[in-house]
Amino acid sequence: MSGRRIWVVEDNDQNFDLIDYLLAEAGHRVLRLRDGDELRSLLAASPPPPDLVLLDVNLPEGSGLDLVPSLRGLVPGRQLPIVVVTAHAMRGDRERFLAAGCTGYISKPIETARFVAEVEAHLAEELE
Ligand code: MN
Repeated sequence: MSGRRIWVVEDNDQNFDLIDYLLAEAGHRVLRLRDGDELRSLLAASPPPPDLVLLDVNLPEGSGLDLVPSLRGLVPGRQLPIVVVTAHAMRGDRERFLAAGCTGYISKPIETARFVAEVEAHLAEELE
């Protein structure tokens, strides 16, 4: 897959560094955003939007999940994949995430051997 633009909201430096390393090694271009406010204002203000958003669920200002509905209206005419990354995946969470408007979720701790494939699966879906 050729390099795509991926925006990452992640407050933990170690997690971000791992995500950044894995995605960059696969040729993707990563932009780190500080929090949901920055993500929302950048989506609203600066076309073109990214090809995918990776959103940490456990953020200092609250649940990343609460941000998703307000993000959905910001990219008109196009389905923006919003994939949440969570340490709290439990039975029933997939349904909860999808109901919130997420495209999917990836569990923490990040599995280095399959993380990129998990992200790219959502990019592939977008192209169909
Ligand atoms: Mn976090």
